Amino acid sequence: MLPVVALVGRPNVGKSTLFNVLTRSRDALVADMPGVTRDRHYGICRSGARPFVVVDTGGLSGIDEAMDVLTAKQVRLAIQEADVLVFVVDARDGLLPQDYTILNELRRSGKPIVAAVNKTDGLDDQAVLAEFSAFGLGAILPLSAAHSRGTGELISALLPLL
Ligand code: GDP
Ligand code: MG
Repeated sequence: MLPVVALVGRPNVGKSTLFNVLTRSRDALVADMPGVTRDRHYGICRSGARPFVVVDTGGLSGIDEAMDVLTAKQVRLAIQEADVLVFVVDARDGLLPQDYTILNELRRSGKPIVAAVNKTDGLDDQAVLAEFSAFGLGAILPLSAAHSRGTGELISALLPLL
């Protein structure tokens, strides 16, 4: 059995884009509309020293009222099946209350968490990291999934945890 890494985070932060880069596939649906990924997608990342399974947990719904509930359900499913959790956040949005809600749930699992701060293209990495250090996580990595920047570093950070 390969170790499992789950991508978790609010809709539209770039989980599916990151999934595509890690698995080099077009399996995950990427679109400008938040929440179009309705289900979980599984792929294998073979770019590092050891392969691992990647799960894109999806955003499920575009209906705002139901979003919190559905995201919470996805978070629980991801926690159940993952060995390591990649908490994906959006550098352009900054820290939002829903990020903390998700992070609290992830923390309760006791599983290793790596924060991936996506959409850092055109932004200052140090400033971004300073803002997101408020999470108090040991591992925070700046990323631009759309430009495949930082993904090698992310894989390197994940491997020792698998
Ligand atoms: P998901 O809902 O978390 O799966 O997010 P998606 O992967 O569907 O991406 C949502 C939107 O963010 C899409 O329009 C992507 O093109 C865009 N996006 C994803 N990654 C990046 C990035 O690194 N930089 C920028 N500027 N946009 C990105
Ligand atoms: Mg998606």
